[in-house]
Amino acid sequence: MQLLPCLLCGKKLEQRTDKNKKPYFVCDPCGIQLFIRRKEGIEKLAQLIRSLNEHDLPIRQHGQSLYEVQAILSEIDGLKTEIKKLEGEIGLFFIDEDKVRARKLLKTRIENLLSQLEQISKRNETRE
Ligand SMILES: [Zn+2]
Repeated sequence: MQLLPCLLCGKKLEQRTDKNKKPYFVCDPCGIQLFIRRKEGIEKLAQLIRSLNEHDLPIRQHGQSLYEVQAILSEIDGLKTEIKKLEGEIGLFFIDEDKVRARKLLKTRIENLLSQLEQISKRNETRE
């Protein structure tokens, strides 16, 4: 089941599908309707839900955690793109040491972000 927390009350919202097969979420108590209409948004949504499940993050907590998680995930995405770009530039025969070092720093940053995700996850567990 695809669930996202309401950004106001944190209630788990079940993903619904409109007549055009686009995903949307409704929070009855808050009266929020969240429609995701474009391909990019739908892909981001799928990715977000996958990541939430993968990291086993409890999502019934306050929306705050979700924003933190989203910010971290999108930073990781950006870093991965950078790493790929660097790897294309590092070269097979003439190794560019600066770029190797830069890649290492980016990877370290990803590690830090992943442990931040764990922190958030733990913090949510202790709140329960
Ligand atoms: Zn709500």
